[in-house]
Amino acid sequence: MSAQPSNQTSVPTGPAATGSRPLLEVQDLRVTFAGRGGREFTAVDGVSFSVRPGQVVGLVGESGSGKSVTSLAVMGLLPRKGVRVEGEVRFDGRDLLAARRDELSNLRGREMAMVFQDPMTSLNPVVPIGTQVTEVLLRHTDATRSEAREEAEQLLRRVGIPDPGRRLTEYPHQLSGGMRQRALIAIALACKPRLLIADEPTTALDVTIQAQVLELLRQLVTETGTAMVMITHDLGVVAGLCDEVNVMYAGRVVESAPRQELFAAPRHRYTTGLLASIPRLDSPRGEPLRPIPGSPSDTVAWSRACAFAPRCTVADADCVRADIPLDQDVVRPGHRARCVHPAPEPETATTPAAAPQPAPTERTVTP
Ligand code: ADP
Ligand code: MG
Repeated sequence: MSAQPSNQTSVPTGPAATGSRPLLEVQDLRVTFAGRGGREFTAVDGVSFSVRPGQVVGLVGESGSGKSVTSLAVMGLLPRKGVRVEGEVRFDGRDLLAARRDELSNLRGREMAMVFQDPMTSLNPVVPIGTQVTEVLLRHTDATRSEAREEAEQLLRRVGIPDPGRRLTEYPHQLSGGMRQRALIAIALACKPRLLIADEPTTALDVTIQAQVLELLRQLVTETGTAMVMITHDLGVVAGLCDEVNVMYAGRVVESAPRQELFAAPRHRYTTGLLASIPRLDSPRGEPLRPIPGSPSDTVAWSRACAFAPRCTVADADCVRADIPLDQDVVRPGHRARCVHPAPEPETATTPAAAPQPAPTERTVTP
């Protein structure tokens, strides 16, 4: 599904997705790690985005661009020692960065949940699946043990695990990768969270299972109005699932746009590079792919200016002046790019239906 987006693919934009106020608001988030010898490293540098109920907001970018650190900061899961978190994270109006540890752990699981990339390290290998699901229910709801067991079975069924009654008694190693990821999603869904952060939830899965898991997440958002942050390095996942997209590069959001606009009229030169590096259904056969030359590690010395400049084909002296803002290039309300020399707008870009779509492959942003 995700790997085969089409114009018919309806991205969840139910009533909940429009008009309502954001459930999660991240404003100018900055995460700095204390390094060895007093050298600091700012992994997330002024990231802002918000998510409404029923909306899927994507954070997309290469490995190391700060996606996971952003989500861990939102969930309050970064260690307190050696890490400085600045800015604002508001959940339903509450300031999470100022919240006490116990308040946060109460919120986690009950109101906001996270699905991590690797189900094997997130599940407890020596505890049966069923116990791991019921534990969450017992901790966060008033359910009795037998009600929790009943509910756990329902949850496993809901995420598409066949024969859930039997599966409840099994251990993680007895399940396939796809089934483990589903179990993890079941645990995340156990308390009907209002916010779900999925950090590359399908990376470890093969394409077919990946499509099923994404379909499941999409249904969840549509049916329950959950607000979702989808973290991925896979533009196919973005095309199939996200309403809004934030492209991250070296700890900053470099472009932010509704999904269709991003695919139809990318502005930041990093985004155009990403899109050019995925194969298109309508590309002539045999046309070579165009990976973006260089790697993010070239960028260390550029921090406040455009970190992509060393890899950019059109960069000049203007790109290295201090602090290029995200609204350097405002195309339309809701479409902004941190680029001094943005790509020209294609003439056909105004019709979202004309958005070019990536071909059904597993191509990712890191060629
Ligand atoms: P992504 O999820 O986009 O692949 P991350 O958010 O995991 O990237 O990492 C962003 C940057 O922060 C990377 O350069 C990574 O090495 C660094 N980083 C992540 N966790 C820590 C940590 N605990 N201490 C120091 N640096 C870290
Ligand atoms: Mg990550």
